[in-house]
Amino acid sequence: MSTLASSGVDEVAARYEPVIGLEVHVELGTRTKMFCGCPTDFGAPVNTQVCPVCLGLPGSLPVANRAAIEATIRIGLALNCSIASWCRFARKNYFYPDMPKNFQISQYDEPLCTDGYLDVEIDGETVQIGIERVHLEEDTGKTTHIGGATGRIHGATESLVDYNRAGIPLVEIVTKPVPGTGARAPIVARAYVTELRDVVRSLGVSDVRMEQGSMRCDVNTSLNLPGEPWGTRTETKNVNSLRSVERAVRAEMVRQAAVLDAGGTITQETRHFHEDTGDTTPGRSKETATDYRYFPEPDLAPLAPDAEWVAQLKAGLPEAPRLHRRRLQDQWGLSDVDMQSIVNAGAVELIEATVAAGASADGARKWWLGELSRRANESGGDLASLGVTPAHVAELQQLVDEGKLTDKLARTVLDGVIVGEGGPSEVVTGRGLGVVSDTGALTEAVDAAIAAHPDVAEKVRSGKVAAAGVLVGEVMKATRGQADAKTLRELVLARLRA
Ligand SMILES: [Zn+2]
Repeated sequence: MSTLASSGVDEVAARYEPVIGLEVHVELGTRTKMFCGCPTDFGAPVNTQVCPVCLGLPGSLPVANRAAIEATIRIGLALNCSIASWCRFARKNYFYPDMPKNFQISQYDEPLCTDGYLDVEIDGETVQIGIERVHLEEDTGKTTHIGGATGRIHGATESLVDYNRAGIPLVEIVTKPVPGTGARAPIVARAYVTELRDVVRSLGVSDVRMEQGSMRCDVNTSLNLPGEPWGTRTETKNVNSLRSVERAVRAEMVRQAAVLDAGGTITQETRHFHEDTGDTTPGRSKETATDYRYFPEPDLAPLAPDAEWVAQLKAGLPEAPRLHRRRLQDQWGLSDVDMQSIVNAGAVELIEATVAAGASADGARKWWLGELSRRANESGGDLASLGVTPAHVAELQQLVDEGKLTDKLARTVLDGVIVGEGGPSEVVTGRGLGVVSDTGALTEAVDAAIAAHPDVAEKVRSGKVAAAGVLVGEVMKATRGQADAKTLRELVLARLRA
């Protein structure tokens, strides 16, 4: 699963037992916000997607978004949860400038979905992660601190708030505590968040992009001595990538072990994860539930999902990603190792779509895991951000299969696709890149090469067939690599036998 070094963690796990827990927030991709009709488009000009309800102006009243409730129930069902037949929203009172109402509408002791699980595969072994609850709430606005070196409030001269995000439906998915994973705790945490992301994506209810913040993760970690009660946990925030989930658990295990080894105690607090150093530093001390003074939201009617509706939603769930991957692996005839490398490259859906667009599984895998992975690595982005679509890859492979492109030319065509010159066929036409299949033109080029290198031609005639490579190379140069090497070689030999 992971190629990161596990330095320190093995040693920690030999003495202490880690218990992890994960709280994941998913921003739903609904058209409108949770309690008002404001649009939810990402990247809109600041404070343009707001209204009296999501700005918390006096006299405004919230109305719950049915699509968001449906999406939350579907997430709960996909995580094998029970769906409450009756539950309420609650007010969570706190005073931050990014929360204009001075409270957040959330769910407290009556979550919509409870007591489920998600099976996660780690090195061919299934680990079941218990799900405590899945509930629905509204997102906060976004604060930007200007003038400080770190982007944090410390040292800042101004703080700006954008309320476009305030009120976007947010689903919180909380695991039960996960004990017993030992040194694999960091890998289990990462595998869980990865699988959860795939499940939510398969439901089509969010784009679950950690780098854009539509999926955010808090990581709880504690250590205890074998046989002792669970230790005090810390909650690490700012964990913005799958890799960081793994690193954050590792960092906390190593840090807490050092504190405990020195006879210290762990403080219950939130901590910030730092992407650059891989360390965590203390944030605010953790609020307890009483600090938030929860009470049932008086402006909203209780939620009472109809049992028949829930049954319909359950019947309409897509295949679980884990089972879907297994089926694809069978269809594609791949080993566990080959399939795992596709999963690790984040290429399952891309390859599936490429096959659906007409390519062979082998051809699709070759492009996505080879040339395209290499280019994604070089650019520091992911496969999806290259601007090459599954349809492009299928078309490219077809051109190769038809002999209209060599592999080498196909890679040049990709250059054109990536810089936006259009699909493969358009790039071929635009750049004049097709394989030269006009045998008349090729024969002319071959004859010219033979005439220019009589000594080489003589060697080939006398039986030193390997020398033909020189002539093939000459013609390749003359045709800018647009001839098929095998065809060309045959043609050279044929001309010299004549
Ligand atoms: Zn609004």
